[in-house]
Amino acid sequence: MPFQTLRGATDLLAHDLTAWRRLESSVFTIAQRYGYRELRTPVIEDAALFLRSVGETTDIVQKEMFRFTDRGGHDIVLRPEGTAPVVRAYLQHHLHKTEGFAKLFYLGPMFRAERPQAGRLRQFHQYGAEAIGSASPWVDVEIITLCVHTLLECGVADATVWLASMGCREDQARGAQHLQERLTPHRAKLCEDCQARFDRNIFRVLDCKQPGCRALAQEAVKSLERQPGLPPTPFVLCEACVAHFNTVRQGLKAGSIAFDDTHVFARGLDYYTRTVFEVRSPRLGAQDAVAAGGRYDHLVEEFGGPAVGACGFAAGIERVLMAARPVDPVPVAEARQGVYVAIPPKSNLMPEAFRLAQRLRQQGTRTTMDYDGRSLKSQFREADQLHCQVVAILGAQELESGSVTMKDLAGGEQRTLPLEAFLEAVRA
Ligand code: ATP
Ligand code: MG
Repeated sequence: MPFQTLRGATDLLAHDLTAWRRLESSVFTIAQRYGYRELRTPVIEDAALFLRSVGETTDIVQKEMFRFTDRGGHDIVLRPEGTAPVVRAYLQHHLHKTEGFAKLFYLGPMFRAERPQAGRLRQFHQYGAEAIGSASPWVDVEIITLCVHTLLECGVADATVWLASMGCREDQARGAQHLQERLTPHRAKLCEDCQARFDRNIFRVLDCKQPGCRALAQEAVKSLERQPGLPPTPFVLCEACVAHFNTVRQGLKAGSIAFDDTHVFARGLDYYTRTVFEVRSPRLGAQDAVAAGGRYDHLVEEFGGPAVGACGFAAGIERVLMAARPVDPVPVAEARQGVYVAIPPKSNLMPEAFRLAQRLRQQGTRTTMDYDGRSLKSQFREADQLHCQVVAILGAQELESGSVTMKDLAGGEQRTLPLEAFLEAVRA
């Protein structure tokens, strides 16, 4: 084969797309039920959009962006994530003025130049939602609930929600100091990346792909003084952030959304503040995160908009499909459907046959025909393979009498009907 898909990119054939379409329609239904409106943004964006939001020292920006300079010298990337583009669109289309609080959802391909492996692709797909323009903890509750609800609707029933609060910027600064102090004696044991980000963003050690780094960070956090009423956390939460976090926990309980707030973790992207969460599935292997998200209270302002809070999530569609329990087993014999228009070979009846096929399609009937002048026998064989219900034979006799001979492939009976009666019979 001279041409193949690139590593980490996949074709989706008709039999894969059955599950995709079902997922997409579940996401649309549920997102709309919560009052989210769809937004589609381009796949290409200005590189600066992600440098400024996701953060210069993240894996995404440092190693994973497909980045190129176009002929005009513009620094362009294939979008690696959906939040920054949605916030850009929110401001670009003045939703901060016309709507203030906007609830948006999206679905589409994302690109990251990662090492391809099970559950990790270079072109993958996400659906996600962003609620922009409110600092209320109830927005966080809604976002997490929406995330879980869509996953349930997609057949992911056994996932666990990890919940934590990363606090505000001040809390993060105080926490960083503590964590740095505890980790300094172990600095040499950390991976190269973590050593490099030690001073700039120490919390990334908690989100490192190297289990060794994560274990050291976990130990360090456990050795920190516990804050009353809070699970172990490296973030030194102020009163307002504790109250915010408690309302989120209370709200999830009110909505019967199970969560686990005992894990020490952080989200790696720069824009997160306060609530963060990850949804993990026991059905997946090493890459067990199906969805993740959280609050980002400074991004809108950093993009030149008003100082308003926001919260969102993204789910990896390929992983959701892997984590979903298999739905209805494929029916043994697909029900017969539609019409195959057959004409005797060398009959010069193509224009009439094509006209008949179009009349059928226009009335809503799935219709196929042969364009290669094959024998009637091969046409019948193909009609059978395609699971057609009816073969409509259009020969010279039929043409002359303005009729069509129809053979029911299921029942086997054959009759000749005037054209209009035939169309009516097929409709019925
Ligand atoms: P991971 O820890 O697996 O690298 P991440 O933190 O980089 O995930 P996010 O940026 O939070 O991922 O993206 C949200 C979701 O998108 C993930 O939970 C996952 O389901 C999916 N995802 C992320 N990267 C990939 C990828 N390369 N291939 C397939 N799915 C992905
Ligand atoms: Mg990643």
